[in-house]
Amino acid sequence: LQDHEKQYVGFATLPNQVHRKSVKKGFDFTLMVAGESGLGKSTLVNSLFLTDLYKDRKLLNAEERINQTVEIVKHTVDIEEKGVKLKLTIVDTPGFGDAVNNTECWKPITDYIDQQFEQYFRDESGLNRKNIQDNRVHCCLYFISPFGHGLRPVDVEFMKALHEKVNIVPLIAKADCLIPSEIRKLKERVRCSFPAGPHLAAPFAVIGSNTVVEAKGQRVRGRLYPWGIVEVENQAHCDFVKLRNMLIRTHMHDLKDVTCDVHYENYRAQCIQQMT
Ligand code: GDP
Repeated sequence: LQDHEKQYVGFATLPNQVHRKSVKKGFDFTLMVAGESGLGKSTLVNSLFLTDLYKDRKLLNAEERINQTVEIVKHTVDIEEKGVKLKLTIVDTPGFGDAVNNTECWKPITDYIDQQFEQYFRDESGLNRKNIQDNRVHCCLYFISPFGHGLRPVDVEFMKALHEKVNIVPLIAKADCLIPSEIRKLKERVRCSFPAGPHLAAPFAVIGSNTVVEAKGQRVRGRLYPWGIVEVENQAHCDFVKLRNMLIRTHMHDLKDVTCDVHYENYRAQCIQQMT
């Protein structure tokens, strides 16, 4: 034994043991996206995870959309990076905010989130708690239109109805349609009318693209316009990188913890209170 190993009991390896076990088990993450259609939700999700999550999406025409109700559609993919496996579930909410009358169109979404909590509560109180299939929503990306003067009533209602059930990250969609001063103004408006204090950097102004273009001799993900290129991953152009860092690189686990320890715990406490 080397000198330093003699004085070493060994519990310093605990983090490595946890690491090995969790890598073996794999990770899962459930992300919901909401916002009216055409705001670039699918493009952004594909840009975030570099996959094609919407292979068989059916787009509706205007007539079909008039009577459309909000649907909930789940897409799941298994992705792997450096030996780490992630089961990613995207919960899409097509039809949200698209109708002429959007009263209570957040209802199917709150119902969905509650149903997942309810299912988990039931499974957790059941006999076999080992292999619970956890479908709780860990985060919701909420897309705000860049074309209005701030939030629409439906945006405010959505956030009011959901901010105590799920982690909401507000996004300003298609940020390439706005100049910097307009983005600043819109961000300020969103921050003011947000019911709870969102993440400090939020709302993130984002741009999505599924094509690779050439900018200054480099191939980058971006959008090619007659007057130039907007680059998705250029921090001078938008907050895409900030959002990706927050969502994936630094806070993915936190978002899951808050879901379990705060949102689900509240739901569970309410259930138990009603039962007694
Ligand atoms: P979804 O209905 O919200 O899923 O929107 P899509 O991702 O299908 O995008 C709708 C349209 O907007 C497509 O033509 C996209 O190419 C375009 N689009 C997506 N992201 C952006 C963006 O960041 N900026 C601009 N200007 N257009 C975008």
